Amino acid sequence: MIRIAVIGGGQLARMMALDGLRLGIQFSFLVEPDESTQCIDGLGEKVVWDLGGLLNNPDESAFRELFEALGRPQVVTVEKEAVPVGILRGLLPLTQVYPGPDAVYQTQHRAREKQLLSRLAIPTANFKVASTLGEVREAYEAFGLPLFIKTVESGYDGKNQWQLHSLADLESFERENPTGPWVVEQHVRFDREASLIGVRSASGETAFYPLTENLHRKGILIRSLAPAPKLSAETENNARDYMERLFKEMNYVGVLAMECFVCGDDLLVNELAPRVHNSGHWTMDAGICSQFENHLRAIVDWPLGNTRPQGPNGMVNILGSRDVAKHQPRQPGSSWLSGNSTFHWYNKTDRPGRKLGHINFAHDDLQTLQEQLAAQDEQLYGETYK
Ligand code: AMP
Repeated sequence: MIRIAVIGGGQLARMMALDGLRLGIQFSFLVEPDESTQCIDGLGEKVVWDLGGLLNNPDESAFRELFEALGRPQVVTVEKEAVPVGILRGLLPLTQVYPGPDAVYQTQHRAREKQLLSRLAIPTANFKVASTLGEVREAYEAFGLPLFIKTVESGYDGKNQWQLHSLADLESFERENPTGPWVVEQHVRFDREASLIGVRSASGETAFYPLTENLHRKGILIRSLAPAPKLSAETENNARDYMERLFKEMNYVGVLAMECFVCGDDLLVNELAPRVHNSGHWTMDAGICSQFENHLRAIVDWPLGNTRPQGPNGMVNILGSRDVAKHQPRQPGSSWLSGNSTFHWYNKTDRPGRKLGHINFAHDDLQTLQEQLAAQDEQLYGETYK
């Protein structure tokens, strides 16, 4: 029996476990005392641990105790990037940790990540790392407006970010006097956004899903469409080439997500995630091996599964709001359950903007699929989230 321990107990851990249980894999989940665990109810052992306390006293016996509590897993993996790397390093002498601590270390910090991309000659937005407000000013003078300022850690879904459109915005940022360091980026006038989800197994096999087109609002993913329409084979090849470089450099094992800005035929890489990714949720219902199953196959070193869908697929996220209750599937008029889609729910408590579930669509005809995605988006968000 294979047992995998997942660090984190959110929806990505949930979907990994739902696929893994079908493969006969058992799960345990390492969660911190204040972490919500509704997503993983009933899917495996929840091991609540004070990771800060462990890092203050990181001796070998303390890690062995944690390893035993997790049920002696063959592999430890992550469902989020904000994992204390010391925990991954401490578990390394006891078991396999995939993706490895160094890969998580590189990708959980925006400055390290951008520097990694630059080192590998992978194009990004122009950026500067700033530790002081003076350095932010220098970036403003170099790049002009608009400007994106992102804290190097703890930023996701547009959180801990500032968009400056005027000198007044910069002055207000300075008055706020937030804590850096930051990555300060020139605004990219992209045509659209796309992501590449790729996977590399422990023995080095790689596979890539087609590039996925993503629509964000307020920094949060709203919907995805795959394969991203009207992209040249060259763009697709470049994206894979960039990810191959990253795989090699980090000796990466597992699913890696790469978010990009598409400018004509060119790609600028915006962000990496060392894990399964929201923009790959469509893979669950596309008649292929899902990103979750492929991640598990990769980390237990099984052959990878098919990543090439026959036709177009899409996804719409369900974000929490005060009136989510009225859309619940059993309510009359709700479009959440329909004959042309599949519904995924994460068991979370509703909060505005929180990712509560998603709906996947597949259709042979791209235009019909796009209409379905737009109609679902409209039904969920109307004018409120535009
Ligand atoms: P991030 O947190 O870096 O993933 O950014 C969230 C979203 O903000 C992205 O998906 C883009 O829509 C937008 N964004 C971030 N950085 C830039 C940039 N340098 N230029 C234009 N748009 C950006």
